[in-house]
Amino acid sequence: MRRIAHWANGQAFESSSDRVGKIFDPATGEVQAEIPFATPSEVEAVIASAVAAQAAWGNSSISQRTEILFAFRHLVASRRDELATLITAEHGKTHEDALGEVSRGLENIEFACGIASHLKGGHSTQVSGGVDVHSVLQPVGVVAGITPFNFPVMVPLWMTANALACGNAMILKPSEKDPSASLLLAELLREAGLPAGAFSVLQGDADTVGALLDHKDVRAISFVGSTPIAKSIYTRGTANGKRVQALGGAKNHMLVLPDADLGVAADAAVSAAYGSAGERCMAVSVVVAIDEVADPLIAAISERMSALRIGPGNDPASEMGPLITKEHRDKVASYVEGAAAEGARVVVNGRSLALSGKNENGFFFGPSLIDNVAPGMKCYDDEIFGPVLSVVRVKTYDEGLELINANQYGNGVAIFTRDGGAARRFTLEVTCGMVGVNVPIPVPIASYSFGGWKDSLFGDTHMYGPAGIEFFTRTKVVTSRWPDPATSEVNLGFPKTR
Ligand code: NAD
Repeated sequence: MRRIAHWANGQAFESSSDRVGKIFDPATGEVQAEIPFATPSEVEAVIASAVAAQAAWGNSSISQRTEILFAFRHLVASRRDELATLITAEHGKTHEDALGEVSRGLENIEFACGIASHLKGGHSTQVSGGVDVHSVLQPVGVVAGITPFNFPVMVPLWMTANALACGNAMILKPSEKDPSASLLLAELLREAGLPAGAFSVLQGDADTVGALLDHKDVRAISFVGSTPIAKSIYTRGTANGKRVQALGGAKNHMLVLPDADLGVAADAAVSAAYGSAGERCMAVSVVVAIDEVADPLIAAISERMSALRIGPGNDPASEMGPLITKEHRDKVASYVEGAAAEGARVVVNGRSLALSGKNENGFFFGPSLIDNVAPGMKCYDDEIFGPVLSVVRVKTYDEGLELINANQYGNGVAIFTRDGGAARRFTLEVTCGMVGVNVPIPVPIASYSFGGWKDSLFGDTHMYGPAGIEFFTRTKVVTSRWPDPATSEVNLGFPKTR
């Protein structure tokens, strides 16, 4: 059985751990590899190698770092097909979808290539007699990234590109469900010229994360995953004096106003709800339909659902692949199966998906649609994280807005309308971090930052973009004077500037 390695000091190394997990091929249900969960001494060794490398890396010139980032960008772009193949093999998403993920990850490297501009501090001359002030942005030190299963390349790149560009040593603890792509990223960073130790991959589970959270030499934690874990990471990390950003789960609503083009809205809802089998933190999981459009919209969505092709991610004909594990598939199914008893109407149950031949043992679940959903039902209150779209009917814009703003999560949201004024009002009134106007998955480009509100993010800093630079640096302000010894004197008064 293939056994997944750790990566430290510029090379892969085998773990001696007997605590292991399984990596499945979600399309067939077969176990394809074993993943060891780091032993305490392996965690120590990886952190020590990062500490040893960080000072020199943090002191490297901005040009050196930029050159490495450009080379890394080129390598990721030229090996994108290989990365996508690794993603599909362990995650299950289609190859096309995996290529999309790599390309969104590339944006983050491209942003980091501009590090010479991002690390510019400020300078003020003559703030007082003969006194100048400037600020510098210095690396935080050794930082850790803890990532979820659903974007095994993009989310690690959200953190890694900026963390390294800012001069930190980065330890990545990828999801234990699909860790192989992160090892290829490590190889590409080495090939790009990154010094040994500046980037490590530590395979592990909750215990491994706990060790990183408690270790004095890990200065900052960038986390992406589910809300309960995000909250606990934030609490434990900050209690240990670390800087923490912890992005959590989501329940993304799409409000459809009566004037919207219903064909456009239905295309968007189907694409955003069922793409990547709904395993996206920005997937649309609730359509909020103003009463009069609900029936025609449901008809248009159902028609499009029946045409979707579900199959293995490596089959070019597939538009939607399997879910990540059997347990997760069964949990997703339980929400659909329980919905009727809660008073909702199951329009399409993904369980009835007909699978042929080799797919039968895979973790497939077909696209599902539930109507007449309301707060208080499990299928509304919980993040399902599967190909399940709920429809909540409301009477007015205000009722729709109130529903969305009352939700625990505040990651992404979208409005579909042809009324610019209504859209503008919505963007100002809604309590979510990322808003789409006729855009169902409004993931910001890398020069903005990504982050939700409410229980979708714990901490003050959003991910990547300018907020990423802020997270991965510490600011220092230097006040200088070069006095003429002839005019120097003792003065116990508080320094005045005027
Ligand atoms: P998860 O929370 O189960 O795991 C995320 C990471 O935390 C993994 O590396 C895992 O090993 C680790 N982990 C798991 N249990 C832990 C524990 N008890 N203590 C410490 N660490 C632990 O999430 P997942 O199932 O891998 O990913 C899906 C979730 O991630 C969804 O909720 C999704 O919405 C969310 N997500 C959010 C964003 C965002 O940007 N807000 C992006 C992608 C995914």
